[in-house]
Amino acid sequence: MSNTPAPAPEHREFQAEVRQLLDIVIHSLYTDREIFVRELVSNAADALEKLRHTQLTERSIFQPELPLEIHISMDAEARTLTIADHGIGMTRSELIENLGTIAHSGSKAFMQALKSSGKDGTQLIGQFGVGFYSAFMVADKVEVFTHSWREDGEPLCWTSDGATGYDIADWVPALTSDVNEEREEGQETDPALTSEATGVTRGARLVMHLKEDMAEYAEAATIKRILAKYSNFVGFPIIVNGERVNSVEAVWLKNKNEVTEEHYKEFYRFTSKLFDDPSYTFHFSADAPMAINALLFAPTQNMEMWGMGQMEPGVALYCKKVLIDPSPPKLLPDWMRFVRGVIDSEDLPLNISRESMQDSALVRKLGKVVAQRFLKFIDKEANETPEKYAEFYEKFGRFVKEGVATDNDNRESASKLLRFDSSMAEEGKLTSLADYVTRMKNGQKAIYYQIAPSRAAIQSGPYVEAFKQRGFEVLFLYEAIDDYVVNSLGQFDSKPLQAVNSDKIELDETPAAEGEALSTEASDGLCTWLKDYLAARVTAVRTGKRLVNSPALALLPEGEISPQMRQMMKAMKKDDGIDAPEVILEINTRSNLIKSLATVKDKDADIAHLIADQLLDTSLLAAGLIEDPQAIVARNLKMMEALAARV
Ligand code: ADP
Repeated sequence: MSNTPAPAPEHREFQAEVRQLLDIVIHSLYTDREIFVRELVSNAADALEKLRHTQLTERSIFQPELPLEIHISMDAEARTLTIADHGIGMTRSELIENLGTIAHSGSKAFMQALKSSGKDGTQLIGQFGVGFYSAFMVADKVEVFTHSWREDGEPLCWTSDGATGYDIADWVPALTSDVNEEREEGQETDPALTSEATGVTRGARLVMHLKEDMAEYAEAATIKRILAKYSNFVGFPIIVNGERVNSVEAVWLKNKNEVTEEHYKEFYRFTSKLFDDPSYTFHFSADAPMAINALLFAPTQNMEMWGMGQMEPGVALYCKKVLIDPSPPKLLPDWMRFVRGVIDSEDLPLNISRESMQDSALVRKLGKVVAQRFLKFIDKEANETPEKYAEFYEKFGRFVKEGVATDNDNRESASKLLRFDSSMAEEGKLTSLADYVTRMKNGQKAIYYQIAPSRAAIQSGPYVEAFKQRGFEVLFLYEAIDDYVVNSLGQFDSKPLQAVNSDKIELDETPAAEGEALSTEASDGLCTWLKDYLAARVTAVRTGKRLVNSPALALLPEGEISPQMRQMMKAMKKDDGIDAPEVILEINTRSNLIKSLATVKDKDADIAHLIADQLLDTSLLAAGLIEDPQAIVARNLKMMEALAARV
């Protein structure tokens, strides 16, 4: 009575990673087993979606008349649950590739997270879909009857117990459908489960032979409850024992006040295939410059932080509720790939194809308008609830920075979302550039920043003291990408962004400078002597107004490759042929060390040279321009030796 496979099936082993995954899926005592329904229904919906698109371009489709629906039926006595669709189905090689290896997104992400997080699988299954393999959480045997959309496809039956590999056999269909035979009288015939002529239907039919203690999943009430929980938004009719159970509603077209928070969350999880809650939900409609209904979400977790590589864009494009593309690559700017949700515009031509979509001026305009509105919304939220935004920024700040560095259209809006540590920020709190501007002093010409590995490194270094003394705030930037960010931005609110180590910064004299300085004559003499001795390593030596306590610092001319950029190029082995940095050494003529050096240079050349070299190297170290501290260490020993000899 059931479809019997041909006598000589082809047996294959699962790929090692699949075995590992199955082992976790089958043996971990997992409380949320029911999610397998969501996973399989979503696979069925994907297969139907793919068919809908295939229909647009391919003329010959196997059984083109079949409805795009998902049919679920169960047999309590036989303890089976069947989920069937008329989607694209699979060929023999697709069966091997898709159900025998981990080549696809959901389970691949799961395995990667498992490896990199060190957590055990049970905690992670909740956060990632394990896709098809989740069937083995409830079944000890799964059969997949399938026929590809291709006319020349063969009817096949894939069978596995989830342990010893799988068999692929010819699917020899019974003349009458198993399910229809058992159908109670009066129930309508389910077209998904049989095809009058051959019994073979396009698509995939999964028959799960449930484990003894999983009998509840062969009950319609259980399945309906689970579907209501997870699959309410599936874009194709779901029919359980002949009864339609989902509503296929377009939440984004509803009025804001008709949608509850819970509803949004459910839709977010459904559309994003993520399992956290959204951190921001932006639901808006507009009539001008285009008719737009959009429902966008920012997730709470940054999936790229799991070491899984770049996320795929996740905002689907619809036209009047018809899906055009679930993941259009150029709709929103690349850096906004963390945003999930739906954009629907009546103004798009319905027959726009995925290929022509990317070139369409209308689509570009649509993406631009939505991106702008979304960024404005986040900026407003960030100002209204800064603590919440701080949490978001901790995880998604990377994307904002990428946006400022790469997105010419939205650079300004994105820059409002930047947050940095600063000399005036409370410990652990970050500041926006807009807030910095409100704190700027009279006469302050620029927004100052320093890039260094840590707050401690900046505060103990020589650069900030001049700014501190004048009451100027300095932004502390800790990441290599920050260099790109500030350079691409250039200015904020018409104020230039300037690195504290730039030789272009002009600071006014401070009246508060303490201590007697060297005479002009002695200063000039020392500068000339230092320049002569350090000739190969510095372009100029000069006295300056910046230093308060430190004896010297290294400045870089405008346009010089920054130390961070140098390090990055070196890391990427792209530093070949780059000239050594052009460094200007600025000395503090009030510093005791500098004053002493002015006399030592005429008395003991060896000691004076040691000090000069060490002075420069210490300054370069603070500037992030020393790669190998070996010379500093060696010189340090010599200096100790000289010091000890004097006692
Ligand atoms: P994912 O859905 O994340 O890609 P799955 O393990 O759920 O991973 O499925 C693996 C692959 O098997 C899918 O990508 C798809 O190509 C194929 N597949 C699964 N279910 C079906 C189905 N009902 N019809 C056609 N192909 C399917």
